[in-house]
Amino acid sequence: MSNIVRKCHLLHVCCAPDLVISYLAGARGDLFFYNPNIHPQQEYEKRLNEVLRLAKLWDLDIISVEYEPSDFFERLAGSEAGIEAEPEGGKRCEICFRLRLEKCAEVVKKSGYASFSTTLTASPKKNVQLINNFGIEVSEDTGTMYLPNIYRKSILYNDAQKLINQLGIYRQGYCGCAFSISTPY
Ligand code: SF4
Repeated sequence: MSNIVRKCHLLHVCCAPDLVISYLAGARGDLFFYNPNIHPQQEYEKRLNEVLRLAKLWDLDIISVEYEPSDFFERLAGSEAGIEAEPEGGKRCEICFRLRLEKCAEVVKKSGYASFSTTLTASPKKNVQLINNFGIEVSEDTGTMYLPNIYRKSILYNDAQKLINQLGIYRQGYCGCAFSISTPY
């Protein structure tokens, strides 16, 4: 019999509001905050601190990594010219989703988690089918297990909005990267 103890689920978290929606939709497991797309650093820390607040409130373990915006910019630099100017939802976002899912799968594999998913699918503004397709592709490439979901379809979505307000959770005014600051929500 193997001595390897498999950990349960790893939930990639993009921001606190989407974590609340996902949590009320039933998402559980250890949290993984990896979002090198967020700009500037103060905004990154603000979003991370809100996620840390929820992790403490719900007694969830969290893995967070150093702020490494170069991860994001290097990916963009290795892509086609002009990708920075893509509209939100375009090819730049595909790279952004994939980068975060790939890093999550890396941790899943290294630490022996059974599966992973992402709170990105809680966002009403994102192409969740595309995110789930990337999650499946990444899991196939890495020998991990991605659990497709659409957390924003939760029947408790409206309750989640109320809870976000009750807890005074910071709601970001733009998606995250430097190129999205000029397209506020
Ligand atoms: S708009 Fe959002 S999803 Fe798209 S690249 Fe920027 S941070 Fe990533």
